[in-house]
Amino acid sequence: MNEAIERIVIVGGGTAGWLAASRLASSRRAKAGRLLVTLIEAPDIPTIGVGEGTWPTMRATLAAIGIGEAEFLVACDGSFKQGSRFDGWLTGEEDDRYLHPFTSPPSAPTAELLAAWQAGASELTFAAAMGAQAHICDLDLAPRQRAMPDYQGAANYAYHLDAGKFAALLASHAVQKLGVRHISDHVVAVARDAGGGIASVATRQNGDVAGDLFIDCSGHASLLIGNHLGVEWIDRSDTLFNDRALAAQVPVAPGSPVASQTVSTAHAAGWIWDIGLPGRRGIGCVYASRFMDDDAAEATLRAYIARALPDAPEVPVRRLSFPTGHRARFWEGNCIAIGLSAGFIEPLEASAIVMIELSLNALLDNFPASRAAMAIHAERFNELFRYRWDRIVEFLKLHYALSRREEPYWLAQRDPAHVPPRLATMLQLWRDQPPSAWDFPRVDEIFSAESHQYILYGMGYPVPADLPASERAAALLAENRQRARSLAAALPANRDYLDALRPDSNAAAAR
Ligand SMILES: Cc1cc2nc3c(=O)[nH]c(=O)nc-3n(C[C@H](O)[C@H](O)[C@H](O)COP(=O)(O)OP(=O)(O)OC[C@H]3O[C@@H](n4cnc5c(N)ncnc54)[C@H](O)[C@@H]3O)c2cc1C
Repeated sequence: MNEAIERIVIVGGGTAGWLAASRLASSRRAKAGRLLVTLIEAPDIPTIGVGEGTWPTMRATLAAIGIGEAEFLVACDGSFKQGSRFDGWLTGEEDDRYLHPFTSPPSAPTAELLAAWQAGASELTFAAAMGAQAHICDLDLAPRQRAMPDYQGAANYAYHLDAGKFAALLASHAVQKLGVRHISDHVVAVARDAGGGIASVATRQNGDVAGDLFIDCSGHASLLIGNHLGVEWIDRSDTLFNDRALAAQVPVAPGSPVASQTVSTAHAAGWIWDIGLPGRRGIGCVYASRFMDDDAAEATLRAYIARALPDAPEVPVRRLSFPTGHRARFWEGNCIAIGLSAGFIEPLEASAIVMIELSLNALLDNFPASRAAMAIHAERFNELFRYRWDRIVEFLKLHYALSRREEPYWLAQRDPAHVPPRLATMLQLWRDQPPSAWDFPRVDEIFSAESHQYILYGMGYPVPADLPASERAAALLAENRQRARSLAAALPANRDYLDALRPDSNAAAAR
């Protein structure tokens, strides 16, 4: 039981599997020759192929793996994401929109910032008052200049990307540059060791693959943690109703603006995502099958596309369905579930890939020295990630619970019977004081107090009474406005920045 953990076997070659392989194989332990990473993926079981919005954490992940920023943007048809905009979530009326930007409000007590916003800058939205990013997004500007060092910006940012190209980039980098052993084959059986852990997985054509630690990245199949180890699934569909999506890729004209944020537009029984890449927009409809059938959802999606891109050709639409929930435990024995095998909750606010990154950070920072130490790590990992799933469920629900839309779906969403008790308590507390680190005390909270503030005050939640006026907070908001103007003058348009990375394709487009 005390032998070192040296052989890592990853089952699955989607975003989760290749991110896991790349992070592990670029770790200090691997570089010192103390880890052998093998990834097995079934050649004819497709990856989910969606997942186009990331978090700012992706910059540190790519840097750790050793991929340059320009290489990544070109290989994945990537663009910058500086936050999420929510259109139509409060009332569904024409001017109903707010932004959840990635840059935090200035460093000052929130109550003072709220007072300064109410007193002096209340003609601005909360996001526009709290930072320059809302203005940058309105103008479709990039968050950085080309001359800046990789992964640094004038505003906090993440990426939009082509999910298929991202997995392909990670795969070639992991195999060619990081020495990951790649087996293209089906896992068909699992063998246990004497201690009840997994000893090896059997493949169809490549025999048994033995390991010390197994990472289940098999997607919804959940081959190891679910099928084999039988770890319980916790259903969260009573809180978050969406269980279907339609995905389309709509080509855009060369030279057209590229948006700086994911636009999420509410509809009668869900919402539509709209993600701008240099060559196309990824547009998809998320909905609850209990409230809308597939044909009505497709009509809603096509109507959106016709409004947003009237000259676009008719494109095929992919239909997906997904369970809403997660495992009761994510690390069982010598198996860790990462990605969809661990759980999935609708794509609002793009919390899935960041959970993959956070799982890998937790594993690498707490790598078990031996089999004997695994139980300690497993308990801590399970407690932390259960906490994170609970916070994700509550944060996503916040977007629905504050809505005043009147369709049956939206009324059901804010029915107290479907609102988690902790969220209901917090909403009561936030009438008296704004969300703070007291409410979200963990290191690496997935959605910080500031994120909650952007949703609450973006959706018109009442600010607490008797806020303390402060000259410093008023000066900070004035500085924000000044900074917004200077960044607007200094930053390039997304389109210009991204096109300049591909001089060849520009020449081809010009011909
Ligand atoms: C509609 C929708 C929109 C989304 N949008 C976002 C977003 O904007 N941002 C975000 O962060 N996330 C998003 N996600 C989630 C994101 O797509 C996933 O978290 C991410 O792609 C990781 O998937 P995965 O690697 O776990 O699984 P998959 O991509 O499904 O990969 C599973 C792998 O397991 C392999 N496999 C399965 N069975 C076997 C077997 N028997 N033997 C060997 N290999 C096997 C398959 O071949 C495949 O390689 C979205 C999800 C959906 C459904």
